[in-house]
Amino acid sequence: MTESAITELYDCVIIGGGPAGMTAAIFARAKNLRVLILEGAQAGGQLKTLYPYKPVYNYPGYSKIPAGELADRMIEQIRELDIPLRENSPIEDITKTDEDIFIISGKQFHLHAKSILLASGLGLPEPRRVGAPGESELEGNGLEYTITDIADWAGKDVAVIGGGNSAIDNALLLLENDARLTLIHRSDKLRAEPESVKKLQQNGVPFHLGWKVAGFEKNKGKVVFEIENAAEKLRLEKDRVLINIGLKPNTDFLEKLDVDKKNKQILVDTEMHTSIPGVFGCGDAVTYPGKVRLIVTALGEAATAVNSLQGYLKSLHIPQEEVS
Ligand SMILES: Cc1cc2nc3c(=O)[nH]c(=O)nc-3n(C[C@H](O)[C@H](O)[C@H](O)COP(=O)(O)OP(=O)(O)OC[C@H]3O[C@@H](n4cnc5c(N)ncnc54)[C@H](O)[C@@H]3O)c2cc1C
Repeated sequence: MTESAITELYDCVIIGGGPAGMTAAIFARAKNLRVLILEGAQAGGQLKTLYPYKPVYNYPGYSKIPAGELADRMIEQIRELDIPLRENSPIEDITKTDEDIFIISGKQFHLHAKSILLASGLGLPEPRRVGAPGESELEGNGLEYTITDIADWAGKDVAVIGGGNSAIDNALLLLENDARLTLIHRSDKLRAEPESVKKLQQNGVPFHLGWKVAGFEKNKGKVVFEIENAAEKLRLEKDRVLINIGLKPNTDFLEKLDVDKKNKQILVDTEMHTSIPGVFGCGDAVTYPGKVRLIVTALGEAATAVNSLQGYLKSLHIPQEEVS
């Protein structure tokens, strides 16, 4: 059967395989719901794609655990429970039929569900680019936006570009792995936690604050680039450059879905209902008064959402058999 010929009717399709989506799937399975997780990239969410090596200190049960490892444990549980998880399947559109069935579409699939759980977090985030000449040519070839394997950076001469928590946390990780660091930030103020900045300073990491990157090129295996401020220019040569200046969330599919939002986040009530009957939300994708964006809140919201979703399913009169 080709992907596009799938005709199963799910009780719930969960969009997003981050902590919120995976937790919801565990609760849905415990309630014997026919559930599927659709994940646009790899399961694990931000923990795997944005900060796999950063220790998480606020997840009860572990006083300290690298984010990637925490996500791997969740994925392991999904596999143990045999919950269908389809990766590399970005959702592009959701429509609702007159019979209250949702049709969820991507490039290679077309699925039917009685309910939808939006757990798509920040969307499919793209790193922000510096916008300097040569940047796109060197991407993945000495110039990176995330550390996927720390072994590739250990002991190297590295420039970190950025001044927020991601840049500084990654700089600390690189330092722990014997990289020789230079930090470059276009503003003269760093937005990161002062304690973390202090650690870098105590380790003698040179900071270039108020410097802009002018352009990148590769020479004899090194990334060569110029930085400049109002008074002078400086030419640097590094083994690798890490750019951490933020993310551009891609939530295109949500734009098309006529669900109430506030600042691109889905508005939910205390039971995680959205403005569309049958569509629920949880995790970083949603907002409400007092919302905190953390792993533990995402998990709690997932449990609430599945409870509400079960109530909604009970109120429907759609037969269990598959649709064609
Ligand atoms: C640098 C950093 C450090 C952090 N540190 C901590 C910490 O120490 N402790 C803590 O509690 N929280 C931390 N957070 C916050 C935490 O990561 C989030 O609150 C958490 O990941 C939210 O989980 P989620 O499942 O809602 O969203 P996400 O983790 O964003 O997962 C959403 C998933 O949906 C998928 N998706 C998106 N769009 C689509 C689509 N169109 N189709 C299919 N799939 C899609 C994505 O690929 C992703 O896998 C940190 C965040 C960052 C950025």
